[in-house]
This record gives sequence, structure tokens and C-alpha cells, in this order.
Amino acid sequence: MVITLGNYIDGALLPAASGAYLEDLEPATGRPLARIPVSGAEDVTRAVAAAERAFGDWSRTPAAERSRLLLRIAELIDARAEELAREESLDTGKPITLARTLDLPRASANFRFFATAILHEHSEAHVTDHAALNYTLRRPRGVCGLISPWNLPLYLLSWKIAPALATGNTAVAKPSELAPLTAFRLAELCREAGLPKGVLNIVHGTGAAAGAALVSHPAVRTISFTGGTATGATIAGAAAPAFKKLTLEMGGKNPAILFADADLEVAVPGILRAAFTNQGQICLCGSRILIEASAYAEFVRRFVPAVQQLRVGDPLDPGTDIGAVVSATHRSKIESYLELARTEGATILCGGGRPAGLPERCRNGFFLEPTVISGLSMSCRVNQEEIFGPVVTLTPFADEAEAVALANQSPYGLAASLWTGNLTRAHRVADQVACGTVWVNSWLLRDLRVPFGGMAQSGLGAEGGDEALRFFTDAKNVCVKL
Ligand code: NAD
Repeated sequence: MVITLGNYIDGALLPAASGAYLEDLEPATGRPLARIPVSGAEDVTRAVAAAERAFGDWSRTPAAERSRLLLRIAELIDARAEELAREESLDTGKPITLARTLDLPRASANFRFFATAILHEHSEAHVTDHAALNYTLRRPRGVCGLISPWNLPLYLLSWKIAPALATGNTAVAKPSELAPLTAFRLAELCREAGLPKGVLNIVHGTGAAAGAALVSHPAVRTISFTGGTATGATIAGAAAPAFKKLTLEMGGKNPAILFADADLEVAVPGILRAAFTNQGQICLCGSRILIEASAYAEFVRRFVPAVQQLRVGDPLDPGTDIGAVVSATHRSKIESYLELARTEGATILCGGGRPAGLPERCRNGFFLEPTVISGLSMSCRVNQEEIFGPVVTLTPFADEAEAVALANQSPYGLAASLWTGNLTRAHRVADQVACGTVWVNSWLLRDLRVPFGGMAQSGLGAEGGDEALRFFTDAKNVCVKL
């Protein structure tokens, strides 16, 4: 059954003013899954107006009450977790096991984390000798525009909605048009939770129409964006002349650095997970695997068979490791990089094509084999550009200095993982790799209190914990003469 989505505006579920719909396809089958309202400036204007009307009351609602409502949303997500995980899997092509164990637990955790963080708010005071007392007020900024991508739909949208609302802002969210289903369900849950109308509004549609209208709306002074670097640049260009406050969480081309002193029993499965979770479609995936030369042969001997054993299959099958990539267009883009790798003189150690033997249901789905490539220099496009698919490259390095140099030879700076048994080296290298997050002997181990953000082409500003609470508020200093 094809589901017809509605925009969530002022507490109601509405069609777009255009009356038109976009088709949302199921990546595993290529079949229509949902109809998405094609929203534009008129819908965004209605949503922003609703959010502006709601702002006065919501920003004055006691923190305990805001907290209660957000906790109720978290409870409802948990209560529907299985249904939502299934829809996330259908909409994105991700294995249902991943949706169950990563996406859904994290979506409710985001609401819980910020719902409880605001109960422990404190602010600073600065005494100027015996002359004055300064104290800092933090106030919500008004209507926030929240724009999210398709790879972790509810996980990333809730990561923005929860701190924006918790701190007393109202919001208009624009989920990805490639995976909007769980955002639509979230609207239903907000209604059920009793969230006052207009506090959260969700407008569906394309980035070029609905997204751009949201960014350029004069009443939206705060924009939190997660998505591709090119889109981030467009948004920054539109937002800068109006002096909007912006966080941009963008692409990555992250190194996984394996030193010969690492425990391969831990490092090989860890690097495998970092490489291929969600078909390699997580901004934090480790797609450039750098290996100390003395361990290279042994790593390849263990890693390549492990990749070949990953089960590519129906995302709804709990035994599937690798589902479908998000769209036919995205698969073609990934395949163009496989072609490029071949022309750049690479060796394909495994994968490199479309898998055979998929179940009948998935015959027309957008699947690719997990692929391992070697023999490319770090300056090749395949090593420089974000592929965002199940494709990794292997590159040997001679020593620590070369490992750091190769890791930093990138326009991006999002994350890195280091695999080593030498703690001193781990601290030293972590300090030198130019990126926002470094994992040591782990990957995607997340504590919601820590700052999160990219450097260079990967991002501007930070989210997470206190950073998010600060981003969604303005600091005001009050100076009282003593
Ligand atoms: P995308 O940039 O194409 O789209 C992201 C969102 O922006 C979508 O909702 C889209 O509709 C909207 N959008 C597009 N054009 C717009 C415009 N002109 N104005 C306003 N909004 C617009 O990205 P995607 O393909 O959905 O996601 C994949 C990318 O996201 C990858 O590059 C990945 O690395 C990145 N990503 C980064 C992080 C992070 O935290 N750094 C997390 C997840 C994904």
C-alpha cells in the first residue's frame, strides 16, 4: 500500500498548497512506497507563521513541562519502535537489524537526552572586582529551520528537533525527500503526545523548493543543516547575507588508521563495521583504510574474506548485513566511482558489481556488492571525493608520520578511527589528525554529551550536548553595578 504523507503544520496534517505529490520509492524493490507533498514557499510560509505564533507560549512554558512533553514523544517512539524500524528500513534500504539497534534507540535517546538536559540548566556569573556582577541569560532564538538527510532519517532529524524544542524554540523541519516516512510518523506521535500546535512543523518536498524557501525565510534566523557539502555551500550562501546562525554538518572521507601493533581480532571487525554499516552511507564511515606496511598482507588476508562473507540481501531479513543503497541515481554515482577506480589503475580485491542471487522481491532493487579497492594514490579522485557507498580503499603507510600525512590529505575533516595497542601513540596521532571526532579502537561509539562537528569541508559549528544547547540559544549578559 502506498502511503500518502501530509505536511505537519499548526498541529494538522495537510497536503501541499500545490496539491502535487512526489513518488518515494522503496530502494530494495524500486517500487513506490509513499507519496510526498511537493511543498514550496507557500507551505513554508504557513509553517513558519504557525511556529512564530507558538513561540511566545512555548518559550515561556516551564522547562519541566517542555521536558515532560519531549519525554512523552520518546516513550511513544519506543512504543512504536518495531513499526518505525520497519518503515525506516523500507524507506532507506537499510537492514532492519540496523534500524532496530541504531536508528530507533537513538531517536528516542535524543529526545530523552535534551528533555532532561534542560532540567539541569545553569548559567555563568562573573564578578568584576567589587564593582559589578554580570550574569548570563540564555534565551531561545525563535523559529529554527532544521534540514536533514536520508541516511539516518529519524536519528538525525530528532538530533535537531530535540535540542531546538527543549531550549524553547519552535521549529520547521524539512526531512529528506528520499526518506520522509518516519518524519511523517513523528508528526503523528507529536499530536498524540499533546505537543502544542505550531511548536514543531514538518514540511516535505525537495531541497530546491521547500528547503530553499525555509533557508531564505526572513523569520527563520537559525538553521541547522546536515547533508552534502555542495548543499551546505548553497545554504551558507543564502544564509550569510541575512546573518543567520548556522550549523552545517556535511560530508566526510574518513580515514581508518591501522598500526601494526593493533589487535587484529578487534581491529578487523571494527574496520569492517566502520566501512560498510548502512552500505557505507554514514557520514562517519571509514572509507580510506590506511595500513602500516608491515601489517598490510595480514590485514588483507583477514579483511577481504570478511567482506565477502557479508550478507547482501533483503533489508527486511534480520540476517542481512548489507541492504540496498538509497536510489538508482545514487547507485549510478557509486558505480561511476568504481569505473573511475578502474581507469585510475586500481585493483578490485572484492566486489565491484551488482550482487547475484537476491530474493525475487529485491530483483529491481538498488543493490551493490561491498567493494575493496587497492593500488590508488591518495591524490586520486576515488580517494579524495566522498563516494558514500559500500566502497573502501586500502593504502599502506611506512610510519606514523606518513599515516598522519595521508589521513590529512583530504578536503574533509569529519572523523577518524585509530587502531593501535600503543596508548601513547593513540593520543599523539589523535591530536594530529585534523577532524572533529577520533575513535581509538572503536567506531561510532557515541556519548550524547560530547561535541560533534566537522572541520574544513565537513562542517561549520558543532552540535551535541552543551554545544547544541548553546547553538539554539542566544547569550545575553546582564551587568549590575554593585
Ligand atoms: P543533500 O545535501 O542532498 O540533502 C540534505 C537535505 O538538504 C535534504 O533534506 C535536501 O532536501 C535538502 N536540500 C537540498 N538542497 C537544498 C537547498 N538548496 N536548500 C535547502 N535545503 C536543501 O544530502 P543527502 O544526499 O540527503 O545526504 C548525504 C550527505 O549528507 C552526505 O554527504 C553525508 O556525508 C552527509 N551527512 C553528513 C552528516 C554529518 O553529521 N556530518 C550526517 C549524515 C549525512
